[in-house]
Amino acid sequence: MVAIAATTIAYPALERTTAVEAAPVAAGPPVSEVLGAPAPEPTVPESLAVTLDQVTIERRGVELVSRSLVTRDPAPKCSGVVTSPGHNGRLPASVLCDLWQAPYQDRADAVVTLFALNDDFRAAFGRDLCLTSGYRTLEQQAALRAAKGGLAAPPGTSNHGWGLAIDICESDYTGERGRWLDEVGPVYGWANPPWAHRGGAGPYEPWHWEFTDAVAAIDSGTGE
Ligand SMILES: [Zn+2]
Repeated sequence: MVAIAATTIAYPALERTTAVEAAPVAAGPPVSEVLGAPAPEPTVPESLAVTLDQVTIERRGVELVSRSLVTRDPAPKCSGVVTSPGHNGRLPASVLCDLWQAPYQDRADAVVTLFALNDDFRAAFGRDLCLTSGYRTLEQQAALRAAKGGLAAPPGTSNHGWGLAIDICESDYTGERGRWLDEVGPVYGWANPPWAHRGGAGPYEPWHWEFTDAVAAIDSGTGE
């Protein structure tokens, strides 16, 4: 019950951040006065990592995803609709959408959830999540494998080729931001997969994150 109460207190802090971003008028009373409630510490989402158990994370996840994907339209230039999974490394342009950081793209349904995750990341840390990779063509995957050897999956087997993976900058998958991602990423369906953990079935790749349900549906391989 304590953890649930923490969720109830914390959630308006996230809503307030969104309201501030959306408000067209710069001047006015502090948001805390408008809302008529004492303002929680802005670091509440970080402290949740300590207090929430899995059940309350899922409960909060439902609220966050509902707000993000239904009321916020986080990726207005992306339909989010995928009519066919296509072929690894050969996805048609019609199923790809731009991420916030050029030149990276991913599959449309993955991009919509990533934009929502990035909105919350920006609210927490004041800037976009930093990326180093997204969708890769067969040629791009072959070039990476030539450069990185066994650390890169063979062309045609990487989840980057399905447009269902991103690689994250070291600044963001470590430390405070890394702990935040570990907590909030799964809310939006994203995780560093077990095979990429230290001692996992594949190479240790803490930077590699996947859109987990879609990857499971394809049952693709392991590796960068
Ligand atoms: Zn990767």
